[in-house]
Amino acid sequence: MNPLAILRKDCERPIVNIDDFSLLDERDHLHYLDSAATTQKPRAVLQAMQSYYEQHNANPHRGAYELSAQSTEAYERSRKRIARFLGVADVDTLIFTRGTTESLNVLATAWGRANVKAGDRIVVTRMEHHANFVPWQQLALAVGAEFVIAELAPGGVLDLDHLAQCCTPNTKVVAFGQVSNALGTINPVSEIVRIARTTGALVVCDGAQGVPHFDAAVDALGVDAYVFSGHKMLGPMGIGGLVVRREILEAMPPYQFGGDMIALVGDERSTWNVLPHKFEAGTPNVAGAVGLAAAAQYLDGIGMSRVRAHEAALLAYTTARLTEVPGVTVLGPPPERRSGVVSFVLDEVHPHDIAQVLDSAGVCVRSGHHCAQPLMRALKVSATTRASFYVYNDADDVDALIVALLTTRDRMGLA
Ligand code: PMP
Repeated sequence: MNPLAILRKDCERPIVNIDDFSLLDERDHLHYLDSAATTQKPRAVLQAMQSYYEQHNANPHRGAYELSAQSTEAYERSRKRIARFLGVADVDTLIFTRGTTESLNVLATAWGRANVKAGDRIVVTRMEHHANFVPWQQLALAVGAEFVIAELAPGGVLDLDHLAQCCTPNTKVVAFGQVSNALGTINPVSEIVRIARTTGALVVCDGAQGVPHFDAAVDALGVDAYVFSGHKMLGPMGIGGLVVRREILEAMPPYQFGGDMIALVGDERSTWNVLPHKFEAGTPNVAGAVGLAAAAQYLDGIGMSRVRAHEAALLAYTTARLTEVPGVTVLGPPPERRSGVVSFVLDEVHPHDIAQVLDSAGVCVRSGHHCAQPLMRALKVSATTRASFYVYNDADDVDALIVALLTTRDRMGLA
């Protein structure tokens, strides 16, 4: 077999039954290569949510009646299941939020306002998603702290020496992504943590692009706070989480007020409920948590090492086949340092035009700045085209991408 045929064989089939995914199953011609933006949902997730609403729906925590107790039980059981999936032993330190963006805003607002003062320093990296950049930038502006960006080394990886220089004794926050959504760069978390620990900073890891792709083992990462979104790991939209070390959460003021986060309300003062409720104001997204627990179950059923291996195989095949398309430049580090993401530019064709031609061939990719404008500036591009893979993709999707890119060149009149 020739080398390309071997690479193709390694990702010839998806690692799930496509009929688990109604949307993909019903659209044979669709090549969904935008899972870094959001993943498709297996029936198991949709059914879990439907059966919650059909059989157990009530406002949890508050009612004295049986149905409310069932809803509470469904919610708290989901928390346990997701904590197990994440490798978090202290279940009550998993706070449900709407997702990564909200989790980071909770940290920057509630922890940040209480702990970061004028003259302190906040360090982020050049490759952060806006959600892990802007909340810290705005905090710095509000309190008069210094906002410092750890730059990249050539090849789209973090410059660890520069990060070390940025981490001065007055650093109060070091915030970094586990995996870059725009390039797919997998960051060396333990190295980053080691550098960040030379300061007394809160070490925050954005796991939005980590959890879906490899065994998160959050406790073992050694970070203070870890955030993620359910919709990027086969779960529903509108649910995600924030895992923070208990003593930090205990000391941190609430982010929002009302509902079950209250213990006692006096006329002049109020007190707060215990963890995790202290940070979950208002009626929670129980169905979302139930759906996310079903997603965790589904991913565990596949095995995260298989997920990672499948993505690596798709990436290797794509990288090899992209050499057939003249004028393509893939951005970021070599495939072995990337998750299942290929971010590229094609001669002078604008990524939006590429995405449109690809769409006419049923190939869904993302084009734009990927909510990473600081990174785009450093790469000196305004936008890229990004294909991202997941468990339901296979070599056919890659083949369709390559054919559609060749068509794009033809249509744009490129030789
Ligand atoms: N961080 C990263 C690395 C992401 O990829 C994303 C989603 N593109 C976010 C944060 C924001 O996630 P959400 O929109 O689910 O809040």
